[in-house]
Amino acid sequence: MKNIKDYNLEELKKELISIGEKPFRAEQIFKWIYQDKVTNFDEMTNLSLELREKLKQNYSLCIFNILKKQESSDGTIKYLFDVLDGNAIETVLMKYHHGYSLCVSTQIGCKMGCKFCASTGIAFARNLTAGEIVEELLAVERDQNIKISNVVYMGIGEPLDNYENVVNSIRIINNPKGINIGARHISVSTSGLVPNIYRLAEENIQCTLSISLHATNNEKRSKMMPVNNRYPIEELIQACKDYIAKTNRRISFEYALAKDNNDNLEDAKELVKLLKGMICHVNLIPINKIENGAFDKSSNENIIKFRDYLNEHGIVATIRRELGSDIDAACGQLRRKNLK
Ligand code: SAH
Repeated sequence: MKNIKDYNLEELKKELISIGEKPFRAEQIFKWIYQDKVTNFDEMTNLSLELREKLKQNYSLCIFNILKKQESSDGTIKYLFDVLDGNAIETVLMKYHHGYSLCVSTQIGCKMGCKFCASTGIAFARNLTAGEIVEELLAVERDQNIKISNVVYMGIGEPLDNYENVVNSIRIINNPKGINIGARHISVSTSGLVPNIYRLAEENIQCTLSISLHATNNEKRSKMMPVNNRYPIEELIQACKDYIAKTNRRISFEYALAKDNNDNLEDAKELVKLLKGMICHVNLIPINKIENGAFDKSSNENIIKFRDYLNEHGIVATIRRELGSDIDAACGQLRRKNLK
C-alpha cells in the first residue's frame, strides 16, 4: 500500500486528481495529518464517507510503533521505532531552552563507514521514505503532546545518499500547510557527498547545511572517513564555497575532536587556513567513544584551547553540548536494529 505521507502537497494534489478527486482535498488531508495529527482516515470528518473508504483501501498512514523509549538524566529521550517491515531505527528528542529539537534518521543503516560512528556497525538495509522520516517527527509529537521546533537530519544514515526522500521530507516539514517548521530551523548534515551538495544548492530550500569535516588534510580525513577518498577535501571545500555563493547561507562545519588525532593546535591552525573567508560556523563535538572505536575523546582542556584558537582567529566556534550519552543517544551512537 502507498504511504500517504510520502507525498508533498503538490504531489498529493496530483495523486488525488489521478483517482478522480478534487485537488483542494489535498490541503484538507494535509491539515488532518500534519496539524490535527490524526492516526486514521475515519477522523477526517470533512471528507465524504466514500472518499475516506477510498483512501483507506489505497493508502496507509504509516503509524510507527514505539518499541522502546529511554530517557537520559539530561531529559533527552531516545525512541526505537518499529518501521513496520521488521526493521527498527532510532530518533532522539532533545529539550533546549528555545524548544524541542528532533534528530531524525534517514536510512536503516549507513554505507559511509566512518571509523568513529556506531551507525556504520550493522549492514545497510534500505532508505527511509519521505513519509517515514516525517512519521519519526509525528510519532514523537503524538507521544509527548508537544510541538517540535527544530529538526536536525543527524540520526542514522547519510541524508544526501537518500537525496529525493530527504528533500521531499523537508518540503513536507517546511510547508506552512504541513508541519510548518521554518527552513532555518532545519539542518541537514552530510559526510560530504559533493555532487549532491551542488544539487541541494539548486533546491531553493533555506535549510542549514552542516558538513562533517573532522580533519583538515586528506591523509587524516581519509583515515577517519572513507568518503574522503571519493571526494577529497579540496573538492568538498569548493562545493561549500559554491553553496554559500549560490544560497547566501552560512555553512556549519562539524568537527569531532579525538585525542591525539585531530585535536592539537596545529590542526586548529590548519582549520583556520582552510575555512578562511567563508561565512561559516564550527561546531566542535567531543568525540563519543564507541564500541571497538579507534578514537578517544579529547581532554576538556584541549577542546577549550581548540575553540579559543578558532575564535581568536576569526572563526566562530562553539562546543556542542553532549546530550543523551548515558543512553547512547549522543552523536555517533545511534544504530539500526533488526527485529527478525
Ligand atoms: N551521515 C551524516 C549524518 C550523521 S550526523 C553525516 O555524516 O554528517 C551525525 C554527526 O555526528 C556527524 O557530524 C558525525 O560525523 C558525527 N559523529 C559520528 N560519530 C561520532 C562520534 N562517535 N562522536 C562524535 N560525533 C560523531
